[in-house]
Amino acid sequence: MKTIIEPFKIKSVEPIKFTTREERKAILKKAGYNPFMIHGDDVLIDLLTDSGTSAMSSRQWAGIMDGDESYAGSKSYFRFEAAVKKITGHEFIIPTHQGRAAEKIIFSITGGEGKFYPNNTHFDTTRANIEFTGAEAFDLLNEIGKHPEIKADFKGNMDVEALEKFIKERGKENIPFVMITVTNNSGGGQPVSMQNIKDVKSVCKKYDLPLFLDACRFAENAYFIKIREKGYENKSVLEICQEMFSYSDGATMSAKKDALVNIGGFLSLNNEEIATKCRNLLIVTEGFPTYGGLAGRDLEAVAQGLEEVVEESYLQYRIRSTAYLGEKLVANGIPIIEPPGGHAIYIDAKRFLPDVPAHQYPGQAIACDLYLEGGIRACEIGSVMFGRIDKLTSDFIPAMMELVRLAIPRRVYTQSHIDYVAEVCIESFKNRSKMKGMEITYEAPMLRHFTAQFKPL
Ligand SMILES: *Cc1c(COP(=O)(O)O)cnc(C)c1O
Repeated sequence: MKTIIEPFKIKSVEPIKFTTREERKAILKKAGYNPFMIHGDDVLIDLLTDSGTSAMSSRQWAGIMDGDESYAGSKSYFRFEAAVKKITGHEFIIPTHQGRAAEKIIFSITGGEGKFYPNNTHFDTTRANIEFTGAEAFDLLNEIGKHPEIKADFKGNMDVEALEKFIKERGKENIPFVMITVTNNSGGGQPVSMQNIKDVKSVCKKYDLPLFLDACRFAENAYFIKIREKGYENKSVLEICQEMFSYSDGATMSAKKDALVNIGGFLSLNNEEIATKCRNLLIVTEGFPTYGGLAGRDLEAVAQGLEEVVEESYLQYRIRSTAYLGEKLVANGIPIIEPPGGHAIYIDAKRFLPDVPAHQYPGQAIACDLYLEGGIRACEIGSVMFGRIDKLTSDFIPAMMELVRLAIPRRVYTQSHIDYVAEVCIESFKNRSKMKGMEITYEAPMLRHFTAQFKPL
């Protein structure tokens, strides 16, 4: 087999800035050892997130010029609506400025005190939006997904038995809907199988509960189904996406992921009564239902992006280039979540720094070292993001896993950039005995990882 190459050529380039180690040392200190607080132009290779960092295609840029900025009934909305409907099959399509705005709306309408939402793993904004209404969020990931070292095809699957038990214990009347996140971002970008979606759907049917997809990476998930799940190898990615959504009653989507744009999202639904309530709230918080916090040009770019993201040459390159980085790290002994997920490589900080306990945030220490070593910005997904203090006992409750995410922006970096990233990670791993844990010196009451300040111990 020949090398899988980038299925595009580059028309416009953006310079990246080189800094010295001394400069980065000062920058890191000034940022309170939180990569989120580093200025973007002080970063050489930015793997903080794959969200809103995609390179748009020439056709998307053409769509930007073609956007219809009518306040109501913009033609760009109708193109957007058709593109979303083609994939989801859902009836009511509500544009939002990003994924969390869709979450805010649907959880405001359906949530509140005494309500419970199960998910394979809630993404941080999803959990925050649920908890903000007074409801509770529960992660029911299958056991295998909790073990970074175990290789399996569908580590994002929900534990279906646990779901049924959960519904019986909490009462179906207290569960507005069940959610599945595809791919499972916080659990390592691992895919969910079609069989699992079907199994969850049949439990939902039994208890008359709607099923929602957190669909941010639906196309990457569909491609994994195509290459890993029996019976799907000859189906098109679009057909697989359509089947995935056919088991769902609604979806929240961050178009900043698998719609290949820099801003945008949507909420899609089949229930008219809920859709009407959501649209009414949308008008208060986002905008008129045919733009929902976006410009007409943004809607055009999303519509075009949704067509491009299901192209198989794109997905083959996308999934392969992520795996390529993962394989290089594994070959050099660096522990990662295996097999590599769709949008990111997750370094297993517990095994990388076994002597740094969870309450000293090993993932944060590694993320800082990658910046110091090579100007790479990565994101801790561990106890900084998910650790908490038990209200009753004041005990520190660590996150399920201590990870450092190297998220790969879509269509942005070339193979030599990725080779460089691997070299920096390898160098950092060689020097790991010198790394120290971190202490938090400031934190916000919610989503603290974005703004927390640290001090090396
Ligand atoms: C990014 C993301 C969200 C939130 O979307 P934003 O556009 O960042 O608001 C929700 N769920 C998952 C799984 C995500 O990856």
